Amino acid sequence: MQDLAEGVARFQRDVFPARAELFAHLATHHTPHTLFIGCSDARVVPELITGTEPGDLFVIRTAGNLVPAYTPEADGVAASIEYAVAALGVQDIVVCGHSACGAMTALAQGHDLSGAPAVAAWLRHADASQARTTAAGDVPALVRQNVLAQLANLATHPSVAKALAEGKVALHGWVYDIPTGRVEDLTAAGPALAV
Ligand SMILES: [Zn+2]
Repeated sequence: MQDLAEGVARFQRDVFPARAELFAHLATHHTPHTLFIGCSDARVVPELITGTEPGDLFVIRTAGNLVPAYTPEADGVAASIEYAVAALGVQDIVVCGHSACGAMTALAQGHDLSGAPAVAAWLRHADASQARTTAAGDVPALVRQNVLAQLANLATHPSVAKALAEGKVALHGWVYDIPTGRVEDLTAAGPALAV
């Protein structure tokens, strides 16, 4: 906690005053242009890798960047998606996977998750991702297929389905490579929803 406290002090002393105008604007405006759904992995920092400012990204981070398909029993992820799309009107949604993802590695390599029942249950939301991946044990392949599968899940949420039908939102699937810093856009070549 010592480091965090020092970081807060540094933010208040150095960062905040230099950006006072931005923060004053943000105090009364919340108009992010993009919903960014990434992995909780500490190495994948949405604002850093996209060069965005506070206020630009509405962020959801889950283990394995998983987006459960819509069910009537809403959860926190569904609520955040609905709020971003229906209330805030984001124009783009990015699902971002990444290299060396612990969740995808556990699935691809069949790790024993009996000691982590919540993780094991959560990762069932990647069943379709695994089904799409033909090469067993291929972590990078699963990472990519998982991004595409989660885009498909995303489209089952009514707020997203409506925005897609009205042409108000575009879906994008990315993979961030930690050792090189590169971002591959899996959906760049085809239509916005190439899932
Ligand atoms: Zn991950």
